Amino acid sequence: MKTLKELVRPNIFALKPYSCARNEFTGEASVYLDANENPLNGPYNRYPDPLQLELKAKIARMKGVRIEQIMLGNGSDEPIDLIVRIFCEPKEDNIVAIAPSYGMYEVCADVNNVEYRKVMLNDDFTLDAAKLLAAVDKKTKVIFLCSPNNPTGNLLNRKEMLKVVEGFDGIVVIDEAYIDFASEESWLKDLDRYKNLIVLQTFSKAWGLAAVRCGMAFASEEIMGYFNKVKYPYNINLLTQQFVNEQIDMIERKKGWVKMLLEQRDRLVNAFEAMPLVKKVYPTDANFVLIKVDDANGVYKSLMEKGVIVRNRNNVSLCGGCLRITVGTAEENDTLLAEIQK
Ligand SMILES: *Cc1c(COP(=O)(O)O)cnc(C)c1O
Repeated sequence: MKTLKELVRPNIFALKPYSCARNEFTGEASVYLDANENPLNGPYNRYPDPLQLELKAKIARMKGVRIEQIMLGNGSDEPIDLIVRIFCEPKEDNIVAIAPSYGMYEVCADVNNVEYRKVMLNDDFTLDAAKLLAAVDKKTKVIFLCSPNNPTGNLLNRKEMLKVVEGFDGIVVIDEAYIDFASEESWLKDLDRYKNLIVLQTFSKAWGLAAVRCGMAFASEEIMGYFNKVKYPYNINLLTQQFVNEQIDMIERKKGWVKMLLEQRDRLVNAFEAMPLVKKVYPTDANFVLIKVDDANGVYKSLMEKGVIVRNRNNVSLCGGCLRITVGTAEENDTLLAEIQK
């Protein structure tokens, strides 16, 4: 791996971060007159902890990582954008990513005027590490992998991913937004071994907290130093910090949801496989199923007219004829299956 001095943009490497009042004094005091806050309307009058240490301590215990290896963002979308801004010099550096995959990587690259090189997965959506690495040149700073991948639903093969992690001298991002639904383990336990790894997870899917906007990035302490320098100081508000903290205490409820959704996923897969209309059901390790039908636009439209909205992926490369269907409650899936049969 290259050194972080070689990988981080020179202006970010040299950046002196904004020092906020809550950074300069972190202990306990009786009178706070340092941050121009209103003394009334507690606790909302006070700026929140910029490093969210209480919440991170709980996440660290849950995930088996150190507090300093965690960054929390406004969804995973914030760390995705920060990764581009920390490592990629606009108009100079480039990003390599699998395709099809999550749309935000390319949007963040485009916003930052960074070249985005898409490397197609194989026709069965498996990863070919050699093909991916062939797109890398000396200006490639970041590779994005997503496993389980969106919109295809499959886990990428661990050995192929390892070839990428070990064979690339820059940053490898593994987006694990759907890891709670997967039959394989997270890459989090490999963070200490591979210093170029950034793992993304989120509270938006299995935890049922998409509206709350809380995503997690995990990486070495050294990489986290750059995240903390570049992020807005108070990027996670107090309400979110407290609320997510309380939700983590209800982890058994989340596990129950995952169990129910996995049962429903199996049920949908079996039902789709029995339908003449459905030409292919792709293997899934996520909370959605990608299916191929003869007339994706037609099926999409007729479901929509019945009030059932699925995601039409017909125009996505390698996904011609495909609909991405999120696993719902038993009742919602009843409705979907009844309507799609007609
Ligand atoms: C849904 C999803 C996310 C989560 O985004 P948030 O900003 O955390 O809501 C991240 N990556 C992928 C691939 C997703 O599908």
